[in-house]
Amino acid sequence: MAQVQRMSRLMVKTLRDDPADAETLNHKLLVRAGYVRRTAAGIWTWLPLGKKVYENVARVVREEMDAIGGQEVLLPALLPKEPYEASGRYEEYGDLLFRLKDRKGSDYLLGPTHEEIFTQVVKDQCSSYKDLPVILYQIQTKYRDEARPRAGVLRGREFQMKDSYSFDASDEGLAEAYALHRAAYQRIFERLGLDYRIVSAVSGAMGGSASEEFLAPAPAGEDTFVDCPECDYAANTEAVTFALKPVSVDGHPAVEELDTPDTPTIETLAEHLGVPASATLKNLLVKVDGEIVAVGVPGDREVDLGKLGEHLAPAEVELVTAEDFEGRDDLVRGYVGPQGLEKVRYIADPRVAPGTSWITGANKADRHARNVVCGRDFEVDDYLDVVVVEAGDPCPACGAGLRLDRAIEIGHIFQLGRKYADTFQLDVLGQNGKPVRVTMGSYGIGVSRAVAALVEQSADEQGLCWPAEVAPADVHVVAAGKAVQTELALDVSEQLNAAGVRVLVDDRAGVSPGVKFTDAELIGVPKILVAGRRSAEGVLELKDRRTGEREELSVAEAIARLS
Ligand code: ATP
Ligand code: MG
Ligand code: MG
Ligand code: MG
Repeated sequence: MAQVQRMSRLMVKTLRDDPADAETLNHKLLVRAGYVRRTAAGIWTWLPLGKKVYENVARVVREEMDAIGGQEVLLPALLPKEPYEASGRYEEYGDLLFRLKDRKGSDYLLGPTHEEIFTQVVKDQCSSYKDLPVILYQIQTKYRDEARPRAGVLRGREFQMKDSYSFDASDEGLAEAYALHRAAYQRIFERLGLDYRIVSAVSGAMGGSASEEFLAPAPAGEDTFVDCPECDYAANTEAVTFALKPVSVDGHPAVEELDTPDTPTIETLAEHLGVPASATLKNLLVKVDGEIVAVGVPGDREVDLGKLGEHLAPAEVELVTAEDFEGRDDLVRGYVGPQGLEKVRYIADPRVAPGTSWITGANKADRHARNVVCGRDFEVDDYLDVVVVEAGDPCPACGAGLRLDRAIEIGHIFQLGRKYADTFQLDVLGQNGKPVRVTMGSYGIGVSRAVAALVEQSADEQGLCWPAEVAPADVHVVAAGKAVQTELALDVSEQLNAAGVRVLVDDRAGVSPGVKFTDAELIGVPKILVAGRRSAEGVLELKDRRTGEREELSVAEAIARLS
């Protein structure tokens, strides 16, 4: 049977002041309430109370993963480099990867995510379509040498993730596994008491197709997203990749938005250049002497013709179509959002030497294209971001004014397809006896990050304020006085414990009731039960941590109420 947790014996040291370097609520409060301790930048120790909350989150995740047929495994965090070299990610991850050598000089890494290794596991274990579908998951420590490991446990360099991977013989199977995960994630975040939105997202370095993020709105979040107050529309302004698929110009909402001639559109440019304003305008690349000087993509319709004219004579300009972008998504990425394309990232082509002019799309603030010089305004390898969406822009679904908000990415689901299966030649024998290439999904939840997100969303001026499912206890019993109070507090604690209620009791001697009350508020257990001045009569006071509502109850009433 579970034990009553006695504060007199529990390693918990609360602090009155915020740690000096803390910027976010979760960092301040988790440290002050004695849940975590910073070991190094982005590296955290979970103390007894923190570990309880962490384990509660992990339990919810585990239960819902098991419910969709997930099988739990545990892979190593210390990994050989070869599988990641095979997939190209050993290079791609760059500085994000922790790399190390063993005594023989062989290269290893600390796993940032495990697609490669899971693919190898399944290649080893599954040989027939009858062995599929399979969903494998683990709750495990990940390592990423994040550039800015701030924000407490929100962004660690060592952190805990639930990562799962689905393996199917058909595209329909993958779609089903994806839908199962999506529904499981909804149940998980609802049970955890997190406010969240689902937004479509980029596949990015994962190299997949369909992908959605689960975002928890909070000012401390590092993602920006738009959502509609009138309908359920939501989109990430940062992470949605437009993979340079030809998009119908006619169907595009921005087409009518033509401005004055001094903010010319791609159509006017086309007219100026004497080319038909038709299919070629879906994707536009302007080259001078073979060098790319301007890129237009759907939605990014305003090219500053005047500026362009300073550099170009029409005869020098070559318009190129969508095919020219085939396989060249290193050149340009855009972001699909409520306006169609919200954001454009120009990734400098290595052929563009410092000093070359590079004309970007307009941003909404100045509505004019800028002329940007490589080497002066950005480095060859830099991204240039042009955010076009703004708060108040019309929702594409219903027209209401969109809100622009910050959020924390708490989960991310991907349909990877066959990228890793191709790398490792993961085939199973199909129904007709021929080999079938397996298709995969990968799905992540930041388990440690979810703890931080909960704090960011639920804490108040007094401190932490946990939803019941994740709280380190159901009730915090406070012995506010001397022997009589302590005796009653311990007695009621044992009775509650016997009734299956998780109890934390503040039985510390020599600590004033005032300090105990402040600590109880800070620690954030949902119910606070006080053995105070009416203890001799067997009367307790029950306080709701969130609402502050209080009522007096007898021991029997308190036990009935809480169990
Ligand atoms: P972010 O955009 O915040 O850097 P990510 O997109 O790189 O996150 P994924 O690769 O999608 O992260 O990993 C799956 C999940 O793991 C994320 O949705 C997030 O909840 C969690 N996660 C990622 N990086 C960290 C980190 N440094 N610390 C804590 N949790 C993290
Ligand atoms: Mg990241
Ligand atoms: Mg992300
Ligand atoms: Mg992600």
